[in-house]
Amino acid sequence: MRVSTAFNRMLDIPGGLVQDVSFTDQGVVVDVRLRKRRLRCPCGNTSKAVYDRKIRRWRHLDLGSTRCWLQTSIRRLDCVRCGRVRTEQVPWARPGARHTQDFEDVIGWLCQRTDRTTVTRLMRVTWRTVTRIVKRVVDGYVDNGRLDNLYRIGVDEICYRRGGRDYLTVVADHDTGRVVHVAEGRTQQALNSFFLDLGPERCAQVEAISMDMASIWKQPCATHIPQAQICFDPFHIIVWANQALDSVFRSKRRQHNSHKQWQRTRAAIRTGAENLSVSRRKLLEETNRNDQKLGQAWMLKEDLRDIYRTIPPSQADNYLNDWIERANNSQIQEFETLARRITKHKTGILNTIHQGISNGRSEGINAKIRLINKRGYGHHTAATLTTMIYLTLGKIIIPLPTK
Ligand SMILES: [Zn+2]
Repeated sequence: MRVSTAFNRMLDIPGGLVQDVSFTDQGVVVDVRLRKRRLRCPCGNTSKAVYDRKIRRWRHLDLGSTRCWLQTSIRRLDCVRCGRVRTEQVPWARPGARHTQDFEDVIGWLCQRTDRTTVTRLMRVTWRTVTRIVKRVVDGYVDNGRLDNLYRIGVDEICYRRGGRDYLTVVADHDTGRVVHVAEGRTQQALNSFFLDLGPERCAQVEAISMDMASIWKQPCATHIPQAQICFDPFHIIVWANQALDSVFRSKRRQHNSHKQWQRTRAAIRTGAENLSVSRRKLLEETNRNDQKLGQAWMLKEDLRDIYRTIPPSQADNYLNDWIERANNSQIQEFETLARRITKHKTGILNTIHQGISNGRSEGINAKIRLINKRGYGHHTAATLTTMIYLTLGKIIIPLPTK
């Protein structure tokens, strides 16, 4: 069998025919001829006049341990539609790419699943290259239907750089758990841009939106989705409860013999009752026995958590009223204050429960974004982090070339 025939079969390059193969310092260079002679602009326009030609190479998937390159004589055309000279579109690579689509898809697939250092080592590319590739892959596969059929959504902000000045606004679909919109900043404009993308018809479908309590999002929601119920994220309510409990506990610091003991106890009271280890549970029971006020505060925290966990939604209203009354009469200042805050936000809290979005999905997404940060995906800019969010949380399906 001839070498070019073998490579033709092995690589099966869409729209290309292998002419020759050479082994160089950089790896295997496969000369490819375009099957179609028609000159096609990336915009879709075709032309007969060739502006000029030059040799271009694309990195393809490795052959064993050897790098592989596709090489062809590429033409440029003076596109009347684009109004400028552009390089013709080849079927095996995305416009402007220096890697084949198969190579890029493998990078994207890997980045959905593992950290960037692994990807750069395995694929032998730089971080910057990965960033550029992921952008193209996301643009190529992002589901344009993601804005259809949105009924219950959540909006949250994420701070992506230390110092707390750089924010992204993230909108997620509670029903699919997918991120549908990312905008720079934590402003009303950031959410308004989402509603404008959605358009009036799809805005009218939205039944509920979850957010944090002190929210700047209320105004854009009142303008664009006035019919939607505002729901408050359980996460923030629980944070409040934990803060109140913490404050009760801190005031007792002197009663603990050692700092270590104090820390262990603090960790125990913060943990949800259902997640306590045997030893922590013991510690907690002892602490609560010795200090009735703290025990009472802990119970109030746990009872508030239960509204999202074990209480049937049909009983939620009564349960919450009852809880507010108990907190009000607790004679614990921190919980009396909490009771007032909860009363103020009662409707939003109950909406969340009745809408069935108390599972904290949006917060789950927030936690995942923080994980992306941790994995070191080099999001020094809002744009790179945005791309990574779509890649990993946008439920983008990337086909592997090894089908
Ligand atoms: Zn064009």
